[in-house]
Amino acid sequence: MLHSFDAAVIGGGVVGSAIARELSRYDLSIAVLEENLDVVCEASGRNSAVVHGGFAYDRGSLKARLCVEGNRMMDQLSAELGFRFIRSGKVLVGNTDEDMKQLERTMKQGFDNGAAGLEIIDEEKLHELVPAVNGRFAMFSRFSGIMDPFLFTINLAENAAENGARYFFGHKVLSIRKRNGGYILHTEEDDFSVKWLFNAAGKGAKDISDMLGITGYRVIGSKGNYLVLDKRLGPLLPMPVYPVPSNTYMGIHVTPTVDGNVTVGPDAVNTDDFGYYGVPADKMEYLRESASTLWPHIDKKDVIRTFSGILSKWVDSDGVIQDFRIEIRDDIAPGAVNLIGIESPGLTAAVPIARYAISLLLDRFCIALKSDFNPVHESVKRFMDMDEEERNEAISRDSGYGLLVCSCEKVTEAEIIRAIHNPLGVHTLTGIKYRTRAMMGGCQAGFCQMKIESLIEKELGIKGEDIRYMRDSSWVLSGKMRDGR
Ligand SMILES: Cc1cc2nc3c(=O)[nH]c(=O)nc-3n(C[C@H](O)[C@H](O)[C@H](O)COP(=O)(O)OP(=O)(O)OC[C@H]3O[C@@H](n4cnc5c(N)ncnc54)[C@H](O)[C@@H]3O)c2cc1C
Repeated sequence: MLHSFDAAVIGGGVVGSAIARELSRYDLSIAVLEENLDVVCEASGRNSAVVHGGFAYDRGSLKARLCVEGNRMMDQLSAELGFRFIRSGKVLVGNTDEDMKQLERTMKQGFDNGAAGLEIIDEEKLHELVPAVNGRFAMFSRFSGIMDPFLFTINLAENAAENGARYFFGHKVLSIRKRNGGYILHTEEDDFSVKWLFNAAGKGAKDISDMLGITGYRVIGSKGNYLVLDKRLGPLLPMPVYPVPSNTYMGIHVTPTVDGNVTVGPDAVNTDDFGYYGVPADKMEYLRESASTLWPHIDKKDVIRTFSGILSKWVDSDGVIQDFRIEIRDDIAPGAVNLIGIESPGLTAAVPIARYAISLLLDRFCIALKSDFNPVHESVKRFMDMDEEERNEAISRDSGYGLLVCSCEKVTEAEIIRAIHNPLGVHTLTGIKYRTRAMMGGCQAGFCQMKIESLIEKELGIKGEDIRYMRDSSWVLSGKMRDGR
């Protein structure tokens, strides 16, 4: 089938979702084409979730400018979209004279980049901020923070859909053909005729760029592994603790999550395999040992899960990491906005990246704003966060609030059912997990996964065998063991 849209966004990570949401301010028909069955399955949900201050990037770079902008607008985005963001602050901890010199250089670079709230603090102040940290001094970044990367991305995407963008999951773009001043995007399912397109394909961005005829980019993968620690440890870590960074790598850090866990990582291992997210056992021990030199509370028994993410870094022929590249090549692919090398701080900078990408199109084409764009995504307070009175009121309104499905994270049946009926039509298990936090607790789905599957079956009339964990090939059930039971 051939669909016609004004614009297509290729990729449903945080950058594609931010582009779709920002583009839905304009009077356009928009299609988002995503290979996976939901947004936030790749780098955007596999990171440290730190809202960076903007000091770690070269002066004058897009990374620096868009990061500082993203940091500044995060309170407003959090209020509009209803995802959790905490301006926790962050420390970079040092011990030696060389460390101090590097921190002073980093701080100076930060000021040049327009980052605010940076100061060098002594050991006493460091221990006031983060008890038990090992270090003699630190650079404190007051305005750095932590956020929920899942709901940030999902709520951007759902807000885009509420404002008219259409999502096509399981639609991998396989080839692109130029036609009548626009493009035909070919997927296994359907074809899409569009005037304009945005390449926000993350790990697939180089391939899309090649399909557009914009060739020659060298992109390498850098894999980062993580441990997730039990919520017991959250209260002991009020803010992210980093070592002194090198010019290219932030180092293994410990980071509180907005939900009270702690993550440990990432290491950085070059890889060509952008699809392998397994965490080898020796890496787990390496992460624990490295991070323990910064923060002494990391014990194997508190590790409830591991995960990894892969950064797509654009490098030159000498392997030197380059800035974000956001371009329209009028000579080769007019009307196609090409985004390459959107590595860290892509989460922090997602909305400024989107606005910058759209501005390139607006410089060339006249596109009208629409009058009825609604920036607010309606969110509902979680049962977990309600006080007793609110819980009783919720239960009297909807008895589903009286049934706990995930007892680790206190997620109720009412919340699961609401998530099942999400505006993007996603019904994978991770789709429900990322929207509610069910299956993210200490038991890691042991008690609630089957209940959630049953609710998906009942609410949507889908057979259990057709429910996927995350990806198209990740079936959870292969069929009934006995007929009729
Ligand atoms: C280990 C790690 C730690 C990080 N820590 C931080 C941090 O603390 N703070 C911060 O600001 N940033 C951080 N980042 C960076 C941030 O996560 C990324 O910059 C950001 O998520 C990139 O988003 P994206 O949308 O470009 O890519 P992705 O999230 O990878 O999304 C791209 C999407 O495109 C889809 N796609 C690919 N090819 C095709 C195709 N042909 N057709 C259709 N769809 C396609 C993919 O399925 C995917 O969903 C970190 C990244 C990693 C990996």
